[in-house]
Amino acid sequence: MLVKLVKMAAEGKVFPEKTLSVLAPASAKQIERPATKLCVECPSQYPMQFPKSLQELKVNNCSLRRVSPQIIALPNLCVLDLSCNSIPDVPNAFGQLVNLHTIDLSNNKLTCFPIVLLKSELRNSLVSINLKHNEIKALPHDMSKLQNVHSLNLNNNLIQCLPESIAFIRSLQNIFMSDNKLGYLPGILLSRTLGTADFSHNLFVDRLRDRGSGLFSVPTLMEWAARVVVNQRIHYTNEDLDVHSISYLKQVHYCLCGKPCFESSISQLHRSKLPSTINYSSEEYPFLVYICSKKCQQRFDKL
Ligand SMILES: [Zn+2]
Repeated sequence: MLVKLVKMAAEGKVFPEKTLSVLAPASAKQIERPATKLCVECPSQYPMQFPKSLQELKVNNCSLRRVSPQIIALPNLCVLDLSCNSIPDVPNAFGQLVNLHTIDLSNNKLTCFPIVLLKSELRNSLVSINLKHNEIKALPHDMSKLQNVHSLNLNNNLIQCLPESIAFIRSLQNIFMSDNKLGYLPGILLSRTLGTADFSHNLFVDRLRDRGSGLFSVPTLMEWAARVVVNQRIHYTNEDLDVHSISYLKQVHYCLCGKPCFESSISQLHRSKLPSTINYSSEEYPFLVYICSKKCQQRFDKL
């Protein structure tokens, strides 16, 4: 059309009416909006490239063996569902997804809790973590770094021991730990009320061996110093303290009164129902309770 008009103009001819349309801006409907959601449910749907605008991405049943660098490079991703794949671990670069609030890595081949979730900005952004149906054997001792996590699903794993720090995840409301290998629950969990909790189908024990003399001892100077470090939340690095002191600090337990305690405290197994609004089981669970002083013991005995 353009060539034809140029030729007519060169020949000095008059343009026929209605040849040129009025240039109007495209309507909102005509403009294709950038994709914000994508759902890939089989390998044949897996794209060559993911749109950078994605906020929600679901890639299931694609036999993925790693989290692709292409996914990690999506700057706006808020929700990521990579369930039902074969992912064995999560790379450190995953921490670049600073807007991620919901992650679903259920039904994969994870053998460890992804440490990058604690060591990057994700510890502040994550609200929901689903790692059910993996092969996770243990949880990190500093789970309380996940301050904004509201829902934690670790059903069907191989976890033997729940760290006490789980009770200090400030926003935690829903926890799912059924079908693991837990022998007992941390006593400090009795000091807070959860929304929904499921600890059914674990290997709960009736008694524990070698729990000490059951008598309070006088705290050592080392213990007093360690209590101050924990109480005041004094930050330390591997360069500030020797290996022995760091390993001592990691052995901290918490009395039901909330105070940190070490070897001068006593511990005992106490059967109780879990304080939660919705409990998947009405059974009483064994809680390993630490008690820091005779005063706390008297209070605990009255419960
Ligand atoms: Zn106490």
